[in-house]
Amino acid sequence: MMQKYKTLLESIVVEGFDQIVQDVNLDEYAAMKEEVRFYKEKMEEASQALDVKTKCVVCLEQERGAVFELCNHAVCCNECAEKVVVCPVCRKHTNGIFLRCIL
Ligand SMILES: [Zn+2]
Ligand SMILES: [Zn+2]
Repeated sequence: MMQKYKTLLESIVVEGFDQIVQDVNLDEYAAMKEEVRFYKEKMEEASQALDVKTKCVVCLEQERGAVFELCNHAVCCNECAEKVVVCPVCRKHTNGIFLRCIL
């Protein structure tokens, strides 16, 4: 990000959009708004990706918290780990054996 925008973005965070808009010409303002939108989207994408990565692949609701002992895959929450018969990743039988952990 250009240093100029970085400083402007910091002012937005501290003072809000309306406060600084009179100090900025309209072209800069438009470019800045575009920049803010772009980074906001990137942040949202990143947080969604992170969410998908840490959620249980079975119920997609709870955080992953179980590691299957036979294959070491950590893709389920503790509740689902108890229910699944085979590992959702490698299809190895889990035999109901898994370790509880907090990722
Ligand atoms: Zn689950
Ligand atoms: Zn597995």
